[in-house]
Parts: sequence; structure tokens; C-alpha cells
Amino acid sequence: MLGIRKRIEGLHLRILLQFPEGLKEKACEIAEKLEAEGNEVFISAAPCFGACDIALAEAEACRADKIIHYGHAEFPLGKKAKIPVEYVEFRSDVDLKPMVLKALEDPEFRKCAKVGLITTVQHVGKLREVKALLEENGKTVLIGKHGPKAKYDGQVLGCDAAAAVNVDGKVDCILYVGGGLFHPIGAALACTKKVLSADPFLGKIMWLDEEKRRYEKRRRGALAAAVSAQRFGIIVSVKPGQENLRAAVGLKKAFERIGRKAEILLTDIINPESLANFRCFDAYVNTACPRIVIDDYMRFEKPILNFDDALELVEELKKSR
Ligand code: SF4
Repeated sequence: MLGIRKRIEGLHLRILLQFPEGLKEKACEIAEKLEAEGNEVFISAAPCFGACDIALAEAEACRADKIIHYGHAEFPLGKKAKIPVEYVEFRSDVDLKPMVLKALEDPEFRKCAKVGLITTVQHVGKLREVKALLEENGKTVLIGKHGPKAKYDGQVLGCDAAAAVNVDGKVDCILYVGGGLFHPIGAALACTKKVLSADPFLGKIMWLDEEKRRYEKRRRGALAAAVSAQRFGIIVSVKPGQENLRAAVGLKKAFERIGRKAEILLTDIINPESLANFRCFDAYVNTACPRIVIDDYMRFEKPILNFDDALELVEELKKSR
């Protein structure tokens, strides 16, 4: 069961509501409540991929006074959100204790005396409880300081694993409690220590070393394949929390300085099928959500690199000139 964390303020406004897929079932109930309070309410039907993904175009189309974005914690949008955005977090009341006890039975986890603890915003309110349970069972537990895109210590996003990285050097392993593999894989890729995922919805625990190895192999393969690319498509998202046009322009110049060609491609949704029709590119660079490359790599016909890997490629190509 999920509960509304923050009460909605501001009466008689024109409001655009935005929900991630898992919360769209709540849309009518919330819309009716806000309408009963005298507001004019619109609902974004577009997919919502994260806290970074604000429905600005929809809000402008209905001339909304504000956007209420459900399900995620506040994300640093800076001046990119031209319409005020109110984030309404949702917290899960699923019991994490059985998963912690399951983790404690794992032979490898039992060897870890010091544990870094991470989760998503849905469970962040239960981190202290989980920490206490681990400590009762003899562990020393560290909850890392949150990164620039997260709001709470111990909270990770798919693109911000700083809460794990900040304790990586001081622990024997990292325990992620929460749903899915999207977040713990991000932490596993960013950390040197092993990450154990404990998913209370599936009732499963899983070490992520194999996933990490597989991604690293793919990443190295993409870098090797991109060495011979003559023309790059540099993808820029128009989503306010993902847009990085300045970096793309800098990268285009860097490619051109070493004799490669590049064009900048602007898009809202990065769709491998529509990219496939650009026959002129030999490889792509993604400056938007880094998880697109990590999670959807197999869907792209051409090699695709994240921005940092593209910088590494430029350095390699410079040396070999
Ligand atoms: S950039 Fe990607 S990982 Fe980060 S919040 Fe947005 S959708 Fe999630």
C-alpha cells in the first residue's frame, strides 16, 4: 500500500498531474480530490521515466500554473523547469524485515562485517529500522551521504549512486533493499565492493557481480566498435532533467578536432527504432539518462556510448593519431 506523503497545497489552480507507470492507477482519485477543492486538473498520459522527466510540454499545452509530479523525490532541475514543480513522494509500507533476515542467511553476506546500506525513496523512511536490525545481528552499518540528484542519505537513483560510492571504501559489501534491479545495478557499476540486492516484492536476494561483468564487457565492446566510427550521432534529450546540450556541443567539437564527424540529435524519447533510420551514423553517444545505454544496449543496431565513455574514446583516438 502506498500513502501520500505530502499534502497538496494551493487552491484554484490549473494543475497538471504526472505519474510514473506504477502510480497511474491513482490518477483519477487524486484528480477528483483536487477538482473538489476547486482546481482545474489535467493529467499527463505520457510515459514518465523518473524524477528528471517532467511533463513540461504537456503543462505548457494546458497552460498549467504548476505540475504535481508523483512518486519521486525532488530532483535538481535548476532553471530548466519553467513551471513550478511540486514533487509528492510515495512511500511503500512493505515490510523489509524478512528480506534483511534472508540476506543475513546468505553465506557471503555473513562474511561482511561492515555493510553499506542503500535504497530508493520509497523505502528511505525505513533505513534506520533496517540498520538497527543489521546491527542487532552484528553488522556495522554505514548509510552514505546522498549525491547531487538524490534528496536523502542512503537514497540512490539509477543515475546517482553516490550514497553507495561514499561508503564504498569503508565497507565489505553494499546491501540494497528495495524493488527491482535498476537501482542496485547502478550502484554495482559505480562501486568496487559487491552489491547484494534484497527485493521485498519478489522475496529474492541477488548478488550483482554477474550483471556488472556483463555490462562491463558490453561497454568495452562498444568502445572498441566505436574506434572505427567516422560519424557520430550525439543524442540530446529535451527532458528538462536530462538535457545536456552544452556537453553535446563540446563533444561534437572534440570529435571534429580529431577528424571525425558528428551531428547533434534532439529528442524527447530515445527510441532505437527511429535512430535506426539514420543510416549516416556509425555510432551514437548518449548525453541523456545513462541507464538507456546500460539497460537497453541490445536494442540499438549501432554501438552506443555514454558521454563519459565518449570522452575516453576521444582521448584514445587523440593518442593514436
Ligand atoms: S536520468 Fe535516468 S536514472 Fe536518472 S532519474 Fe532520470 S530516468 Fe532515473
